[in-house]
Amino acid sequence: QALETDVEVVVIGAGPGGYAAAFRSADLGRRTLLVERATTLGGVCLNVGCIPSKALLHVAAVKDAALALSAQGIHFAPPQVDLDALRAWKDQVVGKLTSGLVRLAKVRKVEVWHGTAHFTRPHTLEVQDEAGVLRSVRFQQAIIATGSAPVTLPFLPQDPRILDSTGALALTSVPARLLVVGGGIIGLEMATVYASLGSRIDVVEMSGGLMGGADRDLVKVWEKHNAPRLGKLHLDTRVTAVEARPDALWVKWVDAQGQECEATPYDALLVAVGRRPNSHDLGLEAVGVKVDEGGFIPVDRQQRTVQPHVFAIGDVVGQPMLAHKATHEGHVAAEVAAGLPRGLDIRQIPAVAYTDPEVAWTGLTESGAQAQGVSYGKAVFPWGASGRALANGRAEGFTKILFDETTHRVLGGGIVGTAAGDLIGELSLAVEMGADATDLGRTIHPHPTLGETVGLAAELYEGVCTDLP
Ligand code: FAD
Repeated sequence: QALETDVEVVVIGAGPGGYAAAFRSADLGRRTLLVERATTLGGVCLNVGCIPSKALLHVAAVKDAALALSAQGIHFAPPQVDLDALRAWKDQVVGKLTSGLVRLAKVRKVEVWHGTAHFTRPHTLEVQDEAGVLRSVRFQQAIIATGSAPVTLPFLPQDPRILDSTGALALTSVPARLLVVGGGIIGLEMATVYASLGSRIDVVEMSGGLMGGADRDLVKVWEKHNAPRLGKLHLDTRVTAVEARPDALWVKWVDAQGQECEATPYDALLVAVGRRPNSHDLGLEAVGVKVDEGGFIPVDRQQRTVQPHVFAIGDVVGQPMLAHKATHEGHVAAEVAAGLPRGLDIRQIPAVAYTDPEVAWTGLTESGAQAQGVSYGKAVFPWGASGRALANGRAEGFTKILFDETTHRVLGGGIVGTAAGDLIGELSLAVEMGADATDLGRTIHPHPTLGETVGLAAELYEGVCTDLP
């Protein structure tokens, strides 16, 4: 039997968009219900995305760094990998964060319902739990934060050796030969983990370059560093057929010239060819909200849909599908719903591939500038001239900053190298604050750090001859 309740705000989906929106809404004094169909809070990011992948990438990085120490005269025996223990550790990290969210919801008096939500009327939502029990809630405002799911390829057979990112993170075995289909951030992060665990990896990517969105010069450094341990990278290539035989998955692809290759055997396939929004089965027609041709929910700068009392945020509204974008939009939606004068005013959204080396970029990219016909100035500081990068034995990276030619303000930049994802924050702040080359160059950075390379690149742009550390 349906239970009726009334709230001011209902948030559907408890990922980084949804929980951020629900918490902000409650902090603003509004009676808030958070509905999540999974048994844990945290969405894709905490359960099967950002966090478990980073836990595994951390282990991979430490293991690879330890082995690389032979160049410095430290030799270890070949590492033994205990997959069960590794999986348990990753799950423990996830568990700490997801249970932390339960506590945070309680503290804020955000009510949480577990079940699948769909709209039945403009101000009513029905929620069905796993046992089939239906409950309904009347709301004044709704925030849709239902996220996204992996895209599948229609011709793939049903076979447990064909994995999506969630299957790859489950870490049930380490295939000897792994084909990664899709050379975007998710595919390459998982390739980094499995290469470290011992898989031999080939990558097939439909477009002309890996890590779409990143400048080619950054990606080249990653490619060069990884060439010795990765197998073949097939660009401009489409997988066209997969045959599941007992001995292997036999894969065919077509290259840029339209040539079909001979079937190649793999022990597993990781399919990471993009994600689609979770907008179907939500009963959107009952609230009068339509999706676009990609299934995304169109919103304005205040995250409102065409219905002023219905908001949408995160992956379900479009690219870039990133956790920090979802969280930011969640805060905006909750504040606007509470009547505050907020709106999105974004100059940059950083993107990071937590590969080895890491590749990070923010604001204007060179490829973006060229596509838009925007002129810019540029400074590049090679890490081969960074004392810290040399001391770390990892001097392959560089720091690049793009400037407005007239004002010398920072428009964006990219960093490739260890910890690039942490370093990019300074460039993000510079873009948001309208900092110029002098601001960055005259900021005293601690020595010797990789962060110095940001200041040194800015000094180069100002024509200052830097005393190389
Ligand atoms: P989600 O996190 O997808 O959450 C949506 C929630 O809504 C889910 O829990 C779902 O169960 C629930 N839901 C859906 N429909 C309903 C319904 N009808 N009723 C009730 N509940 C429903 N991003 C980064 O910024 N950094 C990273 O390092 C990073 N790494 C990633 C690694 C992997 C392997 C993957 C797959 C993604 C990664 N991402 C990363 C992307 C990031 O996970 C997403 O951008 C982010 O989770 C989107 O947040 P969201 O709140 O929009 O949706």
